Amino acid sequence: MIYKRSSALFAEAEQVIPGGVNSPVRAFKGVGGTPLFAKEAKGAYLYDEDGNKLIDYINSWGPMILGHAYQPVVDAVVEKAKKGTSFGMPTEIETQIAELAVSMVPNIDKIRFVNSGTEACMSAVRLARGFTGKDKIIKFAGCYHGHSDSFLIQAGSGASTFGTPNSPGVTQGTAKDTLLATYNDIDNVKELIAANPNEIACIIIEPVAGNMGCVPPQNDFLNKLRVLCDENNILLIFDEVMTGFRLAKGGAQELFGIKADIVCFGKVIGGGLPVGAFAARNEIMNYLAPIGPVYQAGTLSGNPLAMAAGLAMLRALNADPEIFTRLEEKTAYLHKGIDKVLTDNNITYTINRVGSMISVHFDETPVVDFTTAAKGNNETFKKFFHGLLNEGVYIAPSAFETWFITDALTYEDLDFTINAVNKVAKTL
Ligand SMILES: *Cc1c(COP(=O)(O)O)cnc(C)c1O
Repeated sequence: MIYKRSSALFAEAEQVIPGGVNSPVRAFKGVGGTPLFAKEAKGAYLYDEDGNKLIDYINSWGPMILGHAYQPVVDAVVEKAKKGTSFGMPTEIETQIAELAVSMVPNIDKIRFVNSGTEACMSAVRLARGFTGKDKIIKFAGCYHGHSDSFLIQAGSGASTFGTPNSPGVTQGTAKDTLLATYNDIDNVKELIAANPNEIACIIIEPVAGNMGCVPPQNDFLNKLRVLCDENNILLIFDEVMTGFRLAKGGAQELFGIKADIVCFGKVIGGGLPVGAFAARNEIMNYLAPIGPVYQAGTLSGNPLAMAAGLAMLRALNADPEIFTRLEEKTAYLHKGIDKVLTDNNITYTINRVGSMISVHFDETPVVDFTTAAKGNNETFKKFFHGLLNEGVYIAPSAFETWFITDALTYEDLDFTINAVNKVAKTL
């Protein structure tokens, strides 16, 4: 690995951008070393400013599910750009992508487009509060719903009382309305509901957690949440920013056969441009301005370039039902291969996987929630990360992230990766 240009660019960036990055995880703080500066990417490969070629398992943190610079998306954006890049007026393409999304995702009648996953989750919670007339929300430790104030609450001293802000700038007033629960622990959720009768507007959850590594829901957890929500007049929000249009056409709702009340999207839905969205049935969505009382807006929402990219992406996913099977098969192949070489090298590990989301944890305790995810050996992870990077394989620079598998990966790429893991495992 050569880091010459990336190092110089990073030093320059640090002078004018806090920490040299516009989103913290990019700074490699979790693994140490110099962040790579991307130059270009095509299909499954990323090329950095020093000319290193890497197999990419981050894929812009999810959006590039069909590979980088996917031709139909690139063409759609280029064509649109020639006709003007923003109008602040309704455009036909917004309806086209909305119709397609509504047809692909179960249980939604209307969808509103925003500019990021953060905005989608933030707006979904406001809508849930407006609709139910209640203030409090339940979120799960280790789940990420973007950086808006209500969600920046960490586990702290347990999930039974008020949350504690984990970022300065989040007020106690905001924190007290966010109740923290333990992922996969239904009794914990029941206790919180019992302790806050008629106060909880919604439960927001990643239906497959992807921001503490990949943590699947267990023991019918989502179904039990659905029942609890129905019994207590609470809205169930699926944050499908990561899982939407990835685990299936209709996301986790389709995969698990469970209906959420509000669904949030981001990442894949924008095809690599800044897009988020939230959706629900009419009864709930009609609560939004301009027809309802809950305010939500955006100067660049529904931007034509973003909609063109998203529409091209959704059309591709909708046209080829085999994509999700292929992704599943490729990820299962990788899972099996890594499983074998880590075992052969006597490494202590756990692999979690759902569909095309997969993560490797360096601990043998099953990873089912934030506490067990945090038990992984971070020193081993750092060596693993840098070892793979040296072999030309780029995984997320943090033990708390999922690998995002793209359909552009070939079985040769997967074999190359498994072989790289084998080499690195010998050094751990
Ligand atoms: C990435 C992510 C978000 C935030 O989306 P941004 O576009 O980064 O604001 C929210 N929820 C989940 C589950 C995510 O993975």
